[in-house]
Parts: sequence; C-alpha cells; structure tokens
Amino acid sequence: MIIRTQRQLIQAVAKRWREQYQPFSDKDPMDKRGIADKLDALDGNAASAEDVNAIIGNQSWTRLACDECKEDTTLTVQVGDEPDYESHTAELCLECAEKAAALIRGMRVELPKGESPCTEGRKDNVRLTD
Ligand SMILES: [Zn+2]
Repeated sequence: MIIRTQRQLIQAVAKRWREQYQPFSDKDPMDKRGIADKLDALDGNAASAEDVNAIIGNQSWTRLACDECKEDTTLTVQVGDEPDYESHTAELCLECAEKAAALIRGMRVELPKGESPCTEGRKDNVRLTD
C-alpha cells in the first residue's frame, strides 16, 4: 500500500511527461517539447493542478480519483499490484478506506490452524467469519 497525493503528481509531472514523450518530434502539432519546457519551469511545490492542466490542456496528469466512490480527491491509498497493464490495483479515498476498515472490523477474523497472519501482500490465509 502506498499513499498518493495530487501534490506528488504535480511535483513529478515534468519528469513523467518527458518519460512518456521523449524524444520529441519536430513535426508534433501538439508541441510536446514546448509543454515539457513549460512544465520544467513550474515550481512543483507551489503550482496548482489548474496550472498544470492549463499547460497540458486536460486534467489527466493531475487527476486523482477513488476507484470505489469515483470522486476526485487529492489523497488516496493505492492497494493491490503496482499499476501496470492488467494489474489489479485500486485507489481509495480516506472515506472509502475508513468504510472498508469498518466493514472488515465488523467481521470476526479467524486464522486456519498452523497459519501465520500475512505480513506482506495479499494472501489467502485469512478466513473471515461472521
Ligand atoms: Zn472513495
């Protein structure tokens, strides 16, 4: 599990843009090189999501949304696999993470005999009973 914030997205946007689009083409009508230069000039600690969105032309590089309630947010916890093609990954806002914790706390947790509780990743050695 890792915490993700919109500020982290803003701080890393220039680097992520270059990783996505370099080397730049001189025939690019979107001027990705020009956008990279503008993103480089931003102060990642002070720039707003709107500042970044205005440069790029959309909010996809600063948008952080909860996979449960679908609301936009500025802070999530990412659970599951590291994001990749066909990974099982979810972002949860604080409210949904608290609901999940309340839900699971409402169940009695019982470990099968001889099994130790999992300490990393998701394991199938915890059986929930009600
Ligand atoms: Zn949520």
